[in-house]
Amino acid sequence: MTKRALVITDMLNDFLDPAGALYVGEPGRAIIPFVAAKIQEMRQEGAVIIFLADAHDPDDPEFRRFPPHAVSGTWGAAVIPELSVAASDHLVTKTTFSGLFGTELRDILRQEGVTEVHLVGVCTSICIMETARDLDLNGFRVVVYRDGVADLDQEDNEWALERMTRLFGVQVR
Ligand SMILES: [Zn+2]
Repeated sequence: MTKRALVITDMLNDFLDPAGALYVGEPGRAIIPFVAAKIQEMRQEGAVIIFLADAHDPDDPEFRRFPPHAVSGTWGAAVIPELSVAASDHLVTKTTFSGLFGTELRDILRQEGVTEVHLVGVCTSICIMETARDLDLNGFRVVVYRDGVADLDQEDNEWALERMTRLFGVQVR
């Protein structure tokens, strides 16, 4: 039997607010209504809802490659106000691109009996792709919504969707 989870990745002020430290831009803003509707829809059908969020230390090694962003406890690390986190949802923090590296995400999915993980959020070629890869390696089916993901670069977005399909068996809807 298929049990679904929706993983909402990095829908945080620093990525989605024009004043954020690593603002994805208009393509990021454009996915917000789709993501909000998908959360509603999957919550109603009883899927496990998981917010996956960057939460870095102020001196995180990732900041050698990216401007400082999503520092734990700051405004930038908070889920955008357009999306509401329900008391029954899970909130999983991460410090790398993959949602399964050093986090409790895999344990939550296994405990909940999840077989199929649906991904929305940012950025397609970075955290979405690395998380999709690790989900695939761990035996989960993965669905990515084209209208629910965005990237800093449109070509990277398309390339990542194509690569995830080819390499990790991701179903792009
Ligand atoms: Zn980060």
